[in-house]
Amino acid sequence: MQRTALITGASRGIGKACAKALAACGYRVALAARSLEKLEEVAAELKAAGAEIFVTSVDLAQPGSIAVSMESTLKNFGPVHVLVNNAGITKDALAMRMKPADWESVLGTNLTGTFYLTQQLLPAMMKERWGRIINISSVVGEMGNPGQANYVASKAGLIGLTKTLALELGSRNITVNAIAPGFIDTDMTQSLNDELKAKMIERTALRRIGTSEDIAGAVKFLASDEAAFITGHVLDVNGGIYM
Ligand code: NAP
Repeated sequence: MQRTALITGASRGIGKACAKALAACGYRVALAARSLEKLEEVAAELKAAGAEIFVTSVDLAQPGSIAVSMESTLKNFGPVHVLVNNAGITKDALAMRMKPADWESVLGTNLTGTFYLTQQLLPAMMKERWGRIINISSVVGEMGNPGQANYVASKAGLIGLTKTLALELGSRNITVNAIAPGFIDTDMTQSLNDELKAKMIERTALRRIGTSEDIAGAVKFLASDEAAFITGHVLDVNGGIYM
């Protein structure tokens, strides 16, 4: 049976690399993010390579948008077997100065939105009696990071959510794992200055910035049949910046 994957934040960066990797493995792939235009570009690329693709615009900060988007996905593309909760944002500031709106939008998108979206897809996944949920957390969710209280709380929250869902869904043959990427070269890290980038590389055992493909490889593994007995795990893909 051909399996279906849904990836949030699939319009660029890590999400796009995951979509490419899973499509290349033969999955049917649903791409989700806010910008339909960017998703259509990714879809065109993957379709040209022979993949079956569905696109859906969703704003994780809006529960109503999640409901509409997931309903349409289930109706038009069928049950999702592999869910990659990848979309995420940052709005950094020191805790003392962090605005309530920035706290709420980061938690609302990264954690609450991820939970609502997962919840929408669960009944159909449970009926299939096979599933993989892969939550993209972050190394900072494990170690903390000054200036990112909202982001770190959301990423640590995803780790707690991962373990709880793993316990709740194991009997349905659904595994739930998290990946904690280190410093990865994407739009999200583009704005960091060269000095900070050099410092991060210096602290990384493998002495380089990670690529989106480094994360996609781990996603591909956790989605595979080979990873059937791994659940509730947090897989560090960080080049050795934190052990
Ligand atoms: P990115 O290049 O900024 O891409 C973020 C993706 O999320 C885009 O596709 C974006 O599309 C989507 N997105 C943002 N807000 C959204 C919303 N409200 N609703 C739906 N989709 C939304 O980020 P990335 O570096 O690939 O990061 C992917 C994931 O890895 C994130 O969860 C991030 O926290 C995590 N991570 C990244 C790093 C790193 O160093 N890059 C390290 C650790 C963890 P639209 O703007 O069109 O919605």
